[in-house]
Amino acid sequence: VLDPSADAPCAPFAHQFVCGNFNDEATVYEFGRNLDVVTVEIEHVNVEALARLKKAGVQVYPDPEILKMIQDKGAQKQFYRLNSLPTSAFFMAENTDELKARSGLKPGVQKLRKGGYDGKGVQVIKSAEDYTNLMEGPSVFEELVDIHKELAVIVARSENGEIKAFPAVEMVFDPKANLVDFLLSPADISKEAMQQAEDLAIKLVKCLDFVGLMAVEMFQDKSGTILINEIAPRPHNSGHQTIEGNITSQYAQHIRAILGMPLGDTAIIRPAVMLNLLGEAGFSGKVFYEGMEKVLAKSGVYVHLYGKTETRPFRKMGHITVTGKTSDEVVAKAMSIRNMTRVISKD
Ligand code: ADP
Repeated sequence: VLDPSADAPCAPFAHQFVCGNFNDEATVYEFGRNLDVVTVEIEHVNVEALARLKKAGVQVYPDPEILKMIQDKGAQKQFYRLNSLPTSAFFMAENTDELKARSGLKPGVQKLRKGGYDGKGVQVIKSAEDYTNLMEGPSVFEELVDIHKELAVIVARSENGEIKAFPAVEMVFDPKANLVDFLLSPADISKEAMQQAEDLAIKLVKCLDFVGLMAVEMFQDKSGTILINEIAPRPHNSGHQTIEGNITSQYAQHIRAILGMPLGDTAIIRPAVMLNLLGEAGFSGKVFYEGMEKVLAKSGVYVHLYGKTETRPFRKMGHITVTGKTSDEVVAKAMSIRNMTRVISKD
């Protein structure tokens, strides 16, 4: 594993751990040069190095060209348009002047083409006043979707063309932190919508000739239409619950896809809710997980801590998967658990 932080949660488990910057071409190339297979779990990795590794005979998944396209939200949108994959209307602007001139100062969403992550680099523009706070840099301007539900489908494809999708999940966002704070599996949508979401995800990986695991984030608008929002070519926040909730976890599926093994069964074993454990606002410093004894006393509840030593407001510190017999039971249990615990610091 290559990670910039010496105390990365994965470090103690890796056979070989290299502390280094994955945006640096020489570091990534040196890291991968003697390996058989290289993969990523974040899309912001130096693609020039990955392309050189591929050329040198290392198997690199996802393909560096696809990764490069995904790193640019503008190129992503063009790809959807070119392949008739439904997505919100958009245009691209080089700077804020062009954006203002072309938008007609209508409501919409500004997204920086590069470097955004977890809600950073995305700004919903509701009024003409919001146009005074535009972010600088080349961006995509999207029409505002009248969102009914936010959905995600995780889909895997292997080299021989086998494809399997996990049943769609539904995400509920915390408007303050703009991070998923509650995820329900399966999504509470009709059978037809479930099928439609799966078909879209499968069409997308086929169009891309993608090998690996892909999270496809979608919107279902108030009229029931499903649109693709964005994609992430890796195990994803919207698949954490597969560890306990599905026959195969997204992580096992990722490994199966990139090593050419048969893909695992994606069926749901039991409904699940995934709660992000985010650092509480107002607390920074050495982390303390308040109320964990009460959480652990509940049945069908799985706590995953990422081993980060310091908390900060809204930092992703771990997640809790809550399982049960029915979706209603799971949601009720999850809501009570959310009130039992806080990620704070006593410093
Ligand atoms: P990130 O890459 O940071 O996750 P997203 O593109 O997923 O950024 O946008 C973050 C959130 O902003 C979405 O989950 C959604 O709630 C809102 N959003 C994004 N695009 C639109 C849109 N076109 N219309 C309405 N809301 C949107």
